[in-house]
Amino acid sequence: MNRNILIVEDEHIVALDLKMSLEDLGHTVVATLAYGEEVLATANKLKPDLVLMDIQLAGNMRGTEAARLLHNEMQLPVIFLSAFCDNNILEHAEQSLPYGYLIKPYDRKELDASIRMALCRHQADQQVRRSELRLQMALQAAQLGLWELDETENTLLSCGIVNDLLSNPPEVICDGLEHLLQLFHPSEHQRLQQLFNRDRDINVVMRLAGIQPRWIELFARHFQQGTQTLLVGVMRDVTEQQQSEHQLRQAHAVFQTTAEGILILDQNFKVLSVNPAFSTITGYRSADVLGQHPESFLYPENNHSPVAAKLSELKSSHWSGEVVCLRKDQSCFPAWQHICKVKSPQPGSATSHYVLTFSNISALRRAEENLAKLAFHDHLTGLGNRAKLEKTLKIEVERAIRNKSMLGVMYLDLDGFKLVNDTLGHSTGDRMLQVIAQRISELTRAGDTAIRVGGDEFVIITPDASNPAFYHKVAEKLLRKISEEIELDNSQVQVSCSIGIACFPEDASSYDELLKCADLAMFAAKESGRNRYSFFNVAMADKTQERVFIEKELKAALLKNSGLMLFYQPIIDLQQQKFCGVEALIRWFHPDYGMISTEKFIGIAEHSTLIVEVGAWVIDQVCKDMTALQQLTPDLKVSLNLSVRQLEDEQLIERVTQAVRHYQVNPALLQFEITETALQDLEGKVSVLQALRDQGATIAIDDFGTGFSSLSRLKHLPINCVKIDRSFVMTIPHQSNDIEITRAVCALCQALQLKVVAEGVETWEQQQFLQSLNCDYAQGYLFAKPMPISDLEKWLKNFRFD
Ligand code: C2E
Ligand code: MG
Ligand code: MG
Repeated sequence: MNRNILIVEDEHIVALDLKMSLEDLGHTVVATLAYGEEVLATANKLKPDLVLMDIQLAGNMRGTEAARLLHNEMQLPVIFLSAFCDNNILEHAEQSLPYGYLIKPYDRKELDASIRMALCRHQADQQVRRSELRLQMALQAAQLGLWELDETENTLLSCGIVNDLLSNPPEVICDGLEHLLQLFHPSEHQRLQQLFNRDRDINVVMRLAGIQPRWIELFARHFQQGTQTLLVGVMRDVTEQQQSEHQLRQAHAVFQTTAEGILILDQNFKVLSVNPAFSTITGYRSADVLGQHPESFLYPENNHSPVAAKLSELKSSHWSGEVVCLRKDQSCFPAWQHICKVKSPQPGSATSHYVLTFSNISALRRAEENLAKLAFHDHLTGLGNRAKLEKTLKIEVERAIRNKSMLGVMYLDLDGFKLVNDTLGHSTGDRMLQVIAQRISELTRAGDTAIRVGGDEFVIITPDASNPAFYHKVAEKLLRKISEEIELDNSQVQVSCSIGIACFPEDASSYDELLKCADLAMFAAKESGRNRYSFFNVAMADKTQERVFIEKELKAALLKNSGLMLFYQPIIDLQQQKFCGVEALIRWFHPDYGMISTEKFIGIAEHSTLIVEVGAWVIDQVCKDMTALQQLTPDLKVSLNLSVRQLEDEQLIERVTQAVRHYQVNPALLQFEITETALQDLEGKVSVLQALRDQGATIAIDDFGTGFSSLSRLKHLPINCVKIDRSFVMTIPHQSNDIEITRAVCALCQALQLKVVAEGVETWEQQQFLQSLNCDYAQGYLFAKPMPISDLEKWLKNFRFD
């Protein structure tokens, strides 16, 4: 058979002879080269079937080296032709795995035989190589590795993916078993060795060595070849599979154990499977619903929550929302539902499944309702609370606007509840509030709302009243009902209340304004004597505005200690006919509004604790002025007014003690005036008066005659002096009634050894008359108006008693 042969021979004659011989044998000589360096390029170009290679060549490269290149790069068969065959040359020649070695001189037959054998052999090698390559590729494509453990020799041979793990290219590895074991995670070694030792087929998944978990599936079988025992197997990387199986197992566990109901649906929304929670929540068994559309069983008919529509309308891959679901027994429950599309992993593929999950949110709803209830209810009385008040009022005002109807708000405050709390204790107070709340509830109509605003304040919202007369009736009923006796701790207790009423839209245009109006009206009811009701009017609002303004400005004046001053009004000793004392009267000069009426701001301050601060300022100022006052006349007595709230102030005695000590004042020169009305409720106050007396000060009852005290009460009080109110003195000597009262007071006080001061003496006749009654002292414009301390000296110089 004709073959293309490349000759590499540097001796021209030998090459020519060889060429002729080959051609005679029927071959074609594609080229004759003398240099080894040219061999590879020429062979690549001319693609010879065989190369005849001399070992000694013309250039630097020897034939053995050129042959190795040819073998490695092109797997071309080479036959060496050489005159030499010493060991060294042969060893070099071996490395290129030649197909023959002819020692010159050789004859033509020898050459022919060698060429034919080499070609034949090369063809067989090529086939093996090709099939090996095929095997490699197949192993690679299948992600498989092949290995062979020679148990007799303990050697290991591998290819395919095993090579990445062992050695690449394949080679025979000594210590085969140890090498193979090293592939695997130490925890697997014992199991693996046991498997190898048993004479059975092996099929096992094992974890590979390394920190990152990787798994290999291993198949192996024992073979006996003569005396040789082989363990031959394949292995496959199953890490991904393992991981996805692991995930699947987890997903399955979640599916089985989650508290959420899960339905797996096909493309047509038909149920493929359900989880146990679905059955627990709905009562449906899996068999009841398989193949069904959820809309046919999961939602009430009139309250469809179409699964498909929800998704298509959203165009997104999922939808979540609240729905109403149906149990098998047809009872409903609120649920939070989530539907999502599941697509196949291939890009652009259509939806293959839907997953519908839902959880029963009844408990959540109940908790929310309870919270709402708590948020809007007063826990003590069960009535609504302030939050409910605001919410309901807003709604009712809007409704009244819509329906053009009338809406009334009654603001109710208990009178004297503090006393109950202070004397009987808070728990009794609480029980009383519960009884009152109960009574209020009994009197409210179905559409009314009763609220406890806080403390002892209640509000009743009464919509749709036909006319204001209705509120009169309700208020009267409330006053009556609330003041009924209550049995608490085996004793009968009674409280009254003051009610303020405001109506929408007459009195206010918004809900909060309406409430304010009712509050103001309640305040007015309190002021006008308690246990009564008042309807709101505009004057109340003006008064409140004024009150708020004065409170704010007075606070500022106290804080800055500016604008407040003391005037002093002289008091005359009628018997000795001389100047003997002064009454300190506060004045407030506002930078913008000028002099503010004392009665007005004192009245307002008395409605808050502000009066305590004002009083403290007065005590301090009087003591400070004392030195200057004493210079007017020796042992001049100075009176100062105390409000009822100051008597309740625990720090009063301490304040007086400190001021007296600080300014080194003789307390015997101080006289505290307490109005008669302040002493109506004597609780705890007598001891305060006594404490002031103990310090050396004297006590006077101011405005006597206005508080309806019985004269006989005076003897039980730790007082020294009585000041007859100006209203009685004013009419002297014309009103016989007042004359008689004044006369009686003077007589009684003399009997009780109390001093008497007549207030508001303006005329000489009044003075004369009072003198005739043996009244001790007089004070009034007849002698002097209240004046700043600086004017007193001048006044005194000009003073003459007529
Ligand atoms: P009050 O303690 O009865 O003081 C007497 C009031 O009668 C003073 O009014 C005084 O200016 C006025 N007055 C005295 N003589 C005559 C008179 O002849 N004719 C007339 N028409 N009025 C006369 P003022 O200063 O306006 O004080 C009013 C009330 O304010 C006082 O009545 C007292 O209750 C209270 N007040 C004044 N200063 C203080 C104070 O520092 N603390 C407290 N808590 N209350 C004070
Ligand atoms: Mg006074
Ligand atoms: Mg007075």
